[in-house]
Amino acid sequence: SVIKRIEDVEKDIDAYLYLDTEQALKQADEVDRLIASGKELEPLGGLPIGIKDNMCTKGMTTTCASRMLANFVPPYDATVVKKLKDRHDIILGKLNMDEFAMGSSTETSAFKKTKNPWDISRVPGGSSGGSAAAVAADEAFFTLGSDTGGSIRQPASLCGVVGMKPTYGAISRYGLIAFASSLDQIGPFTKDVTDCAMVLNAIAGHDANDSTSAVRECPDYKSALIDDVKGLKIGVPREYFGQGINEEVKKAVIDAIELLKTLGADYEETSLKYTDYALSAYYLIASAEASSNLGRYDGVKYGYRAANYEDMIDMYKKTRSEGFGSEVKRRIMLGTYALSSGYYDAYYLKALKVRTLITEDFKKAFEKYDVLIVPTSPTTAFKIGERIDNPMEMYLSDVCTVPVNIAGLPALSMPCGFDSRGLPIGLQIIGKAFDEETILRVAYTFE
Ligand code: GLN
Repeated sequence: SVIKRIEDVEKDIDAYLYLDTEQALKQADEVDRLIASGKELEPLGGLPIGIKDNMCTKGMTTTCASRMLANFVPPYDATVVKKLKDRHDIILGKLNMDEFAMGSSTETSAFKKTKNPWDISRVPGGSSGGSAAAVAADEAFFTLGSDTGGSIRQPASLCGVVGMKPTYGAISRYGLIAFASSLDQIGPFTKDVTDCAMVLNAIAGHDANDSTSAVRECPDYKSALIDDVKGLKIGVPREYFGQGINEEVKKAVIDAIELLKTLGADYEETSLKYTDYALSAYYLIASAEASSNLGRYDGVKYGYRAANYEDMIDMYKKTRSEGFGSEVKRRIMLGTYALSSGYYDAYYLKALKVRTLITEDFKKAFEKYDVLIVPTSPTTAFKIGERIDNPMEMYLSDVCTVPVNIAGLPALSMPCGFDSRGLPIGLQIIGKAFDEETILRVAYTFE
């Protein structure tokens, strides 16, 4: 039925960069055989799913939506992919994204533009726009995305689905093609909160192949779904409800918080005073790390190489000029500048100091509150083409999501209503490090 659905709607949505329905059907037969032989599959196991195209899939192209990796077929599976395959999940294919996960609309993909299933003249958000749109359009039971500054939560919000960025270190990044290594984290897109908990159960946990993955016991995330918020303390930081946040978005989020109050939670306005500096710090840190991570695309080891060149330097130049799109080049230039001697202290080091202040801001807030609730995105889905020529405007799409990555915290976005155009609005629940359970518990009360 999922393949049938893809045949019906994919031409309008363009969520997939790679799709192998024949292979998927073969695997489905295998799953049928397993079930017939009495095997019990894990919750949500054995279902057709999709993976963002920046996670390595053995034998399946992994392009990062870039010309640079257009023909790259990884020789191994990312840890998350391996975990899902081990429980017989069927990987239908790879999902569109902004090139190297840089963007907020999936328009920087070198290959196609994914449309928002609620209104195909609008963007699905980004950078995991394909992963969000595929779940919203029923083209997969669940999908995986990655979130460096909002790339799971913002598209989840714009497409009206649940998306979670877990705590940094909760999920292995082995086989996730790096954008900004200190911020990147993999997470699920699902139709509801229960599914989100089940997918977390499937993918979380320590991995010796990722030195930043946390060594700790994994909880059963599903047991957090207890439908009771009595006594929970919610902080509502006013900086997330100020200028630039759409009035309809604000109202929907506040209404949801009021609803939690009627269910026995307590809320209070608070302040995270360094919030205004988060976006600047993020774009410096993320670009600095990207400029270093993307140094490996030199036309030698793998990926694209320019056809004609004079010498080695010329080969590097042409390969990188032709292989990368303009947003990626902008980040590499910004990052290289911020890291160069003479500017390092003024930009990169300063940004790291701001990072510490933001992290401490959150720490203090979590001495008082169990979760913080804020909007996910300042606006609902915008029109295709509306922001792509104005990087500053595009970057502002992330103003509510980047602080969470800077502090390495977990956060979930879920639908909380519609605007007057009928487009979904998302609210964001932010939790303490490694306290995904309280976030899920709060989210579950809305189901
Ligand atoms: N939109 C943000 C950026 O362009 C975040 C991207 C992401 O989370 N991968 O950097």
